[in-house]
Amino acid sequence: MMTKVEKAGDAVLDEAAELLKQGGIAAVPTETVYGLAANAYDVEAVRSVFRAKGRPQDNPLILHICGMTMLEDIAAEVPELARTLAENFWPGPLTMIFARKAHVPAETCGGLDTAAVRMPNNRFTLKLIERCGFPLAAPSANTSGKPSPTTAAHVLADMDGKIPLVIDGGECRFGVESTVISFDDEDTVRILRPGAVTPEMLREYCHVTIDGGVLAKLAPDAVVHSPGMKYKHYSPEAEVYILKGGDVSVENFMRRHADAGFLGNGKEDMPESVRRFPYGGTSAQQAENLFASLRKADEAGCREVYVRMPDTDGIGLAVYNRLLRSAGFRIISAEDDDAVR
Ligand code: AMP
Ligand code: MG
Repeated sequence: MMTKVEKAGDAVLDEAAELLKQGGIAAVPTETVYGLAANAYDVEAVRSVFRAKGRPQDNPLILHICGMTMLEDIAAEVPELARTLAENFWPGPLTMIFARKAHVPAETCGGLDTAAVRMPNNRFTLKLIERCGFPLAAPSANTSGKPSPTTAAHVLADMDGKIPLVIDGGECRFGVESTVISFDDEDTVRILRPGAVTPEMLREYCHVTIDGGVLAKLAPDAVVHSPGMKYKHYSPEAEVYILKGGDVSVENFMRRHADAGFLGNGKEDMPESVRRFPYGGTSAQQAENLFASLRKADEAGCREVYVRMPDTDGIGLAVYNRLLRSAGFRIISAEDDDAVR
């Protein structure tokens, strides 16, 4: 299959909408990461998305909507709190989980009786959903297990020849996937996956519980509230390690691993041979750069990549959640490593 890349804009709206109406799939830009979109109500189209990604069938897709009437069409019931959060965070990087209506295909929802819904904050993609008239089921447009794509080039690297169309909307603003929440009771939400809508932001409106699966490795027999949490995720070919410790210990550590890749705040003093990739000193920068830099480390042929321990405030919690999975939960202390020498 030939994969066509088109710039996001009104010129390509009709073509993209027509493709999706006929059961085709296309990669589309959002403010979080690129999505691989299909008609959420078309079981065959949804199956093609799972196939192109190599995604396990029980890992549900998020339904992307352009207005509240589309939500009413999906959700069996919309709690008052969800309406308040929608008013304040939609369009934006917040995904909410609802009991689903019977006509929403089980395949789209990984066999669950719930559906995850969000309104993305991307002008082109919102228009596209409106033009289609149905919600777009869209997981991240990467091969399952790989770092999520934050540029059209990343999408092509994974999907060239597998999908007919990639819409290039430039670099994604946030760089990490949406915050996913469910409703524990009428004034409590549970964060299943952290994102750019932070616990602090949600606490303005309700109580917030952070699910144990966000920062801990799940036991094989754990009850999983969000199927995506149990899979190996966001991993480049290189072995990733999280590196804890102060600047000096980290610099010493990297001198001992001088042919590895490194993601740091940009201020560390490193030997020339260390291959540095953009990361940054703020959580927002780290969110923006993490996936792109893990992909770059692979392109550079790094076998090992060390990433400095992120702050976990704000969007930093999302960075740490993704990084833990990229690293298979391996954390190394540069200070301990200094001490044993
Ligand atoms: P991705 O499509 O790669 O952004 O991943 C979507 C995430 O949302 C995965 O972690 C899914 O497990 C989660 N998700 C989607 N639908 C549901 C649902 N109905 N219940 C719980 N988690 C969901
Ligand atoms: Mg994904």
